[in-house]
Amino acid sequence: MEEFLKHFNSDSRAEQRWLSAVYEAVQQQLHPLIDVSLGLSVARLSLAVVSKVQTLVGSDAGLPVSYRFVSVSELIRDQRTACCSSLRWSSAHYQEQARGAELKLPAYKALPRDNLLLIGCLCDGRAAGTSDGVWRVRDAGGSVACAMLKSSCLWLGRLMLFPSWNYIPHNAPAAGYLELLDPPVCVTLEAMAFDPGGALSEVLSVTQAAELLRQRCEGQGCVCVSGQVSVVCPLLLIRGKQFFCLVLREEGCSVPVFITEAKHQFWRQCVCVGQSVWISSLRVCSLQGLEGQRVLTDSCQSRLHPQPQLQESCEDPDTHTDSTSADTHPCSGSGVRVKRSTLISFKGTVTKILNAEAGLYELDGQAGLCLAYQPAQKCCGGLRPGAEIQLHNVHFLYRASPFAPHVVLCACLRSSLQVTAFSRLSSEVEVSGSHGPLRCLLLEKNLGASQYLWLCYCQNAIAERLCPRWVRAERVCVVAERLLDFVCDAEPKTQKKRNIYREMIQEPHQCPVTTFCVWWPSAALWSVRQLSDWMRREVWESLSLPSLLPPSAAHMTALELNAALSWSVHQVPLTDVSPESPLLVGVLELDSTHATLQLRDQTHALNCLCVSTHQSGARTAHINTAWQGCLVCVQRCTLVMERFMKTQFPSWKHLDQSTYIKHKHCRVYLQLCVEDLTIISPSAAMSRRERPSDGPESAKRPRADAAPERPLTPAACVSVLLRLESKQGVTLQNGSAQALGLQSCFVCRAVCLGDVQSWSRDPTNGRTQEHERHGDTQRIDLHFMGSCVRWFPVLHPGCVYRLIARNTEDVSVLQAKGVPARGGVTQLSSPALLVQPQWRIHSITEELADVQSAVPVLMSVSEVLHSSSAPEIVSFRGVITQRITLQEDNGTKPRIQSLTAAEDAGVEQDLRVRLTVQDADGPGHVIDVYVDLSCGPYSLGLIAGATVSVHHVQRRVSRACNVYCRSLPISCVSVTDLTSVCSRSGVAPSPPPMMLLGEWASGRAQCCVLAQVKGHVVCVLSLRLQWTCSLCGSIFRQTSCGRTHPPCDSTSAVFQAEAKVVVEDGSADAHVWFSSDAVCDLLKLNAGQWEGLQRHVKVKGHVKVYTRGRNMTCDEDPDDAVVQYLSRLCSSTAVCRPIHLTCRLRAQRTGKSQLRKLHRGQTEFICKFTPSLQLHCKHVHTQ
Ligand SMILES: [Zn+2]
Ligand SMILES: [Zn+2]
Repeated sequence: MEEFLKHFNSDSRAEQRWLSAVYEAVQQQLHPLIDVSLGLSVARLSLAVVSKVQTLVGSDAGLPVSYRFVSVSELIRDQRTACCSSLRWSSAHYQEQARGAELKLPAYKALPRDNLLLIGCLCDGRAAGTSDGVWRVRDAGGSVACAMLKSSCLWLGRLMLFPSWNYIPHNAPAAGYLELLDPPVCVTLEAMAFDPGGALSEVLSVTQAAELLRQRCEGQGCVCVSGQVSVVCPLLLIRGKQFFCLVLREEGCSVPVFITEAKHQFWRQCVCVGQSVWISSLRVCSLQGLEGQRVLTDSCQSRLHPQPQLQESCEDPDTHTDSTSADTHPCSGSGVRVKRSTLISFKGTVTKILNAEAGLYELDGQAGLCLAYQPAQKCCGGLRPGAEIQLHNVHFLYRASPFAPHVVLCACLRSSLQVTAFSRLSSEVEVSGSHGPLRCLLLEKNLGASQYLWLCYCQNAIAERLCPRWVRAERVCVVAERLLDFVCDAEPKTQKKRNIYREMIQEPHQCPVTTFCVWWPSAALWSVRQLSDWMRREVWESLSLPSLLPPSAAHMTALELNAALSWSVHQVPLTDVSPESPLLVGVLELDSTHATLQLRDQTHALNCLCVSTHQSGARTAHINTAWQGCLVCVQRCTLVMERFMKTQFPSWKHLDQSTYIKHKHCRVYLQLCVEDLTIISPSAAMSRRERPSDGPESAKRPRADAAPERPLTPAACVSVLLRLESKQGVTLQNGSAQALGLQSCFVCRAVCLGDVQSWSRDPTNGRTQEHERHGDTQRIDLHFMGSCVRWFPVLHPGCVYRLIARNTEDVSVLQAKGVPARGGVTQLSSPALLVQPQWRIHSITEELADVQSAVPVLMSVSEVLHSSSAPEIVSFRGVITQRITLQEDNGTKPRIQSLTAAEDAGVEQDLRVRLTVQDADGPGHVIDVYVDLSCGPYSLGLIAGATVSVHHVQRRVSRACNVYCRSLPISCVSVTDLTSVCSRSGVAPSPPPMMLLGEWASGRAQCCVLAQVKGHVVCVLSLRLQWTCSLCGSIFRQTSCGRTHPPCDSTSAVFQAEAKVVVEDGSADAHVWFSSDAVCDLLKLNAGQWEGLQRHVKVKGHVKVYTRGRNMTCDEDPDDAVVQYLSRLCSSTAVCRPIHLTCRLRAQRTGKSQLRKLHRGQTEFICKFTPSLQLHCKHVHTQ
């Protein structure tokens, strides 16, 4: 030490202290590395170090006492954050560099600076026991990987001072690495001897070497070849042997050289494309993997000598970024376009790491870089945001995937990537040394670039939306793979077997990236939230008020108008949502609040209305319990958006003023057909159902993707087999003591098919056992309350279920108990069972032999209409043709603050609708069903076109003898088919039948409610035209309402008309009522005449003419011009003409026949008159 310090006697105390520290560090860390034969003392070594440091800092600057000597082990152990250090930079220089780098990529911060002094031996890892081609910096304490911009073989094994470097730590311990910004400076002074290696031989040019390879003579000696490097392939590890390949080129000739010696693997860092080199002691050998192809390989004595750079590949690599002759040819049959990629060189800056594990980066803020076709690098080698890189022989892909940048540069086994400037920015680095699951899939399935990019996109989406709640992190890739299989379907996504040697050296170059599919697969995965948001936007964007109104809107009063606007529905098929045909991926779960099935992911949940297209009544067609928990993919479904509005429009003329909309909200949900659901990952119950044989191994492992629910310890349980007979609607009831307020509940009637069974392990939905059917069948009521209401959508009358109570052996748990009779009162109701929240219900889908298919037969609409023996409570099926929201009862009914209403505020309260249900087979039979939707969770799918089964409604007969139905709290309207809605074929599928009036009037059973009539207008009995105040309904004259007590200040009026006409068709005559628009059609007026008539009527406000004798007259002013005109018009042949109408019965049963006296001359007759048929004209068919 003294010997060393005496050289610096003149220095200050601080400098002395620094020098002592350097001496100690050299003694501990560096001196042990020096070969003893050199006889270098610690003092001399320290002196050499200090002199090199001084040279670097500048001799006039003095000693850099602010720099601390750091050992490699200390760096790895203590440095947890990335940092940089440079002996050369002044503070100002560093600040300027940092600011410049941050300006380019504002999302990142510059690396903080530390004043550290790093000295070590450069080695290739063999000293550390590996020869992976990675350079390392070593001192006595340890070694660390390092990346360099340019390296020389001459540096190997030498003691070096590193002037400027970045240290990037990894999340894993001891996995950090160094980025050497400046070339290292040699500390020791020993002469660098020229070592040609092996026997010196004549240097061959590439042309000569190529000729040598063509000759088929064996036993060649070693050769030395010089040429320009045109291809540097990545390091490959095959069967434990590491090697890389480079191609030397000269004037159109090329020779591949394989570097296989472990001690030469570090050369990979020393060569770059465009460099001229000569390599000695190469041997000729033939490649096993490539028949007939002979290549050069290195030998033990080989040496790599770079030649002085004549020209640094004069072409600017960045220039040819355009694919010149990218010929596209559509794949046969499918609509997928396949394109050839071009090979280019590129220079750019890494701006973002898109997915390090998948090998995806962003270059220059716009292009993508895909390194997945190259082996994963152990050390990330400086590929961080801000790094400048140069790529050679990369594939230029344009529009390979809609979910990647338009331009993607894809590196393959022939491509080389070289960092030309390290990033000065700090960034997270996470590189797993091994292949990630995505890259494994790429190799396994031999994916093309387009498919791989889609797979990465899909993997991201799944991880974000379903992991960890439904899909375990390690299974995300498996799910993504299944989705890829689903979207690629039968498309040829795998190419022929790969041959890596051919990919590396054959010319012209062929590899998996040579061709790619243009924007395919293009399926976008939408999250449930994204779709829900889209629907909520679309529901109001698509709103056009006039389109919601019937053609007679102009004749509607404010009350009618606002009622018509209060509810409307908008439906869009999922495929129409966006051009790239979105896919939904989610888990089906049951929701107790809405008593629906929901499609869920971690972003949101959407209610679903699940039906099947089968009309055969096949039981499997119903959505059953096994679907619960299935991860499904939906490509086809209908998005339904129901709008609810409270409006106060005075008349139709004000529709453009949105201020009259006082409140609006919507309900959005999906209509799914079970057949359209694709299972990506089945629930345990579903996978059991799919392999009923219980074979030893199955392709689809049950629920392997999901987080394990609970350990599968065999738990005792009891079960009972049930067949559901009927299901009541969900309604609100007073809850039990624990649950305050109202809670939803429903009741099912079921038949127990056997006694309660005890099991040692849960039978779930497995095959039924013989003993389960022993015992008496018993009819019971199942009560579902609170959270048990979730079972509602999967319970269907006629189906068989197994009800299971777990963790008990007590069979009495599932035994229904009758309510004890009190005071001698006989109990009429069946024994009841209150379903507990922890119980499970499983659909049994196998056919049970002796359980008669007991799907209760439903009545048809015409049976309900005409059967005199129809019970008071009826169930029937039909097709909804119309839905009308009824006006609110002005508080006549106590409002139920339902749970659901409280949950989503502003939801419709006291909502009652009238559904017009048509007979599925006889379009002439329609019945009105009045449904109160406010007494339970909202019923989805009650829209025109839906086939419904209406259960437990009250059949009633009106004063006009019309049959209608009213819902009761136990009623349940369930949608069974949406085919007509889904296919958007429109409502009212077939026209009502043609009918003779005599036939219709006879009132025989099964007569229609709706029918077409062809007849002749005999006369107009009466015609009333009136301007009506749209607010109060009084007569409106000129510009003011006629109401005086209290005065009405309304300024808007609507024109209304009504006519009563006798029509006969030879078989009988009928009284037909026409209103408003139909009157215009009846009178055969054109638009101008109709408007003129309205103007004339406006003077008095109303006019009414009626038939007296042969003429028409009026009470008030028979000589009025309008009256005269109307009288003449009504008796003209224009009106009294053959006519074709669609009519609805005003009263379904006509009154009794009447006897009337008639005089004909002197004779008096007593005749029996059947009262005329009373019809309402729905439509005048124009001839
Ligand atoms: Zn390639
Ligand atoms: Zn009025």
